Amino acid sequence: MERVNTEIIKSFEQLVKTSVKSIVLVPHMNPDGDAMGSVLGLWRVLKNAGFKVQVVSPTKYPEFYHWMDGHDEVIIFSHHPKQSARALAESDLLICMDFNQLSRLGDMKPLVESYEGKKILIDHHPYPGNFTDLTISDITYSSTAELIFSVLQSTELAQYIDRDAATSFFTGIMTDTGSFDFSVSNPNTFEVVAQLTRMGIDQQFIHSKVYDNYSADRMRLMGFCLSNRMVVYPEFHTACMYITLEDQKTFNFKTGDNEGFVNMPLSINGIIFSVLFTEKEKYIKASFRSKGDFAVNEVSEKYFNGGGHRNAAGGELYASLADTMALLESILPEFDERIKRSIK
Ligand code: 5GP
Ligand code: MN
Repeated sequence: MERVNTEIIKSFEQLVKTSVKSIVLVPHMNPDGDAMGSVLGLWRVLKNAGFKVQVVSPTKYPEFYHWMDGHDEVIIFSHHPKQSARALAESDLLICMDFNQLSRLGDMKPLVESYEGKKILIDHHPYPGNFTDLTISDITYSSTAELIFSVLQSTELAQYIDRDAATSFFTGIMTDTGSFDFSVSNPNTFEVVAQLTRMGIDQQFIHSKVYDNYSADRMRLMGFCLSNRMVVYPEFHTACMYITLEDQKTFNFKTGDNEGFVNMPLSINGIIFSVLFTEKEKYIKASFRSKGDFAVNEVSEKYFNGGGHRNAAGGELYASLADTMALLESILPEFDERIKRSIK
């Protein structure tokens, strides 16, 4: 809690208090559990405190988050651009959550860039861009949800954190830590979870809603990819999975169906670097995961127009799937030493 500077927390509280119109909360495009958990948790708290507040997401998000409190009031920019623009125009404070660069907003970037009210960033990624009036950014938090909860605890808004908000924050922490498997190096995460538990959250219910909510098609796609779309490079302690557009058609692919795939090869003995390439209409979406010190955000920044955290990063490449695989194979030797150093 002490990690975020008291002055910054005061400024945050002040900016919120001075909002008289409404507050808009914006996650990154293709929002994950942490992005949605953070905006919906804060949405509930601000609503309870009597503010007018609206979540505007750049794109839709996976159906296994469509049970969260307030999910049915989210405006999706890619589906309703005019309604989104109106929501921003009618507000006087915009809070960006769980991303560090405007490019993470996709087509919604110009709308936020030209926003005339005050802007706040709340995030836990390295190298935050300077695009808001106030930046609350700290990479030592497991998730944006943990960070915003800790910030709120130090403000008068703390009294408005109810069970629904706690449930959303827990969803963010649980998903960004892979159910407390990775990126939890700080005891604060468990202290926050203890507080959320005291607020009456049902952890089993939340876990089951997120992880036991897949379609049969998604399960079959996973089996198919593990059998037919995984290449292992034992000499580089690396595994790469890929999903073609054709595969997506075969298995009735829906947003989020590939979530978690990239983590699976890390349970192969000796594998510490895992890659997933998902073919899109115009580009390849890349996901990277690692164990130990090997920094996959460096790989993503240098070769895949992306970024992220040390052990979880992503990017996009405007190339064919074959060229993308070839690129990966060509760069593995460059990272060989760093990968080997990371093996414990
Ligand atoms: P995922 O593999 O789950 O899509 O993304 C993992 C992490 O990588 C995200 O939390 C985010 O920090 C980062 N990330 C994913 N895609 C991109 C991207 O296109 N650009 C940047 N800068 N970061 C990304
Ligand atoms: Mn996050």
